Amino acid sequence: MSDTRPKVLVVEDEPEIRRFVRLALEREGFEVHEAGGVQRGLIDAGTRHPDLVVLDLGLPDGDGVDLIRDLRTWSDVPVLVLSARSTEGDKIGALDAGADDYLVKPFSAGELLARVRAHLRRRSGAASGADQVISFGEVRIDLVRRSVERAGQPLHLTPNEYRLLTHLATHPHCVLTHRQVLAAVWGAGHAEDTHYVRVYMGQLRKKLELDPSQPRHLITETGIGYRFVP
Ligand code: CA
Repeated sequence: MSDTRPKVLVVEDEPEIRRFVRLALEREGFEVHEAGGVQRGLIDAGTRHPDLVVLDLGLPDGDGVDLIRDLRTWSDVPVLVLSARSTEGDKIGALDAGADDYLVKPFSAGELLARVRAHLRRRSGAASGADQVISFGEVRIDLVRRSVERAGQPLHLTPNEYRLLTHLATHPHCVLTHRQVLAAVWGAGHAEDTHYVRVYMGQLRKKLELDPSQPRHLITETGIGYRFVP
């Protein structure tokens, strides 16, 4: 019988953390492979074909960010970064290199598993092509007709609002940096104009959130960017 459990590759050099992550994932029914460094991690990512990579940044033979850059030239597997580094610059560097999410150590098993499940769901949804319509709360986005409804009523969005919303909504659960959002919506020449995103995000929340001051779907990651939660 072939093993159909989702596969997770854990790249981490600290044995205790690796063991903690492996046990948590195995209890949830995942098949887990372990690597202790950048080189081994890249080889295993190529040969094991994991459905998700959990990655430490400080590794004995290099930096996890370099692993992400290499990996992204040939794979779009979700990457969840685990890091003891908690500065905004570290997070932004990993996300801009192509990581999908990060958890700062120490973290709980429950938090880790919730993130892993969210990214695997996103991936299986993308593979089945089921994402032509995106729904959350009272909102329904039809990506083919380029229309948005709230509580069954058509909602008018400006072209920039629509591009911003669809960019976030097609990357559910991912942390997107200001730079990534600006490049995707306004073009690479605007990568420093973070006030654009703030203004448009405020408008979108007014139109889409039940309580724009306590957003539940268009979430701010302070100092980093935004995360869309369906
Ligand atoms: Ca480490």
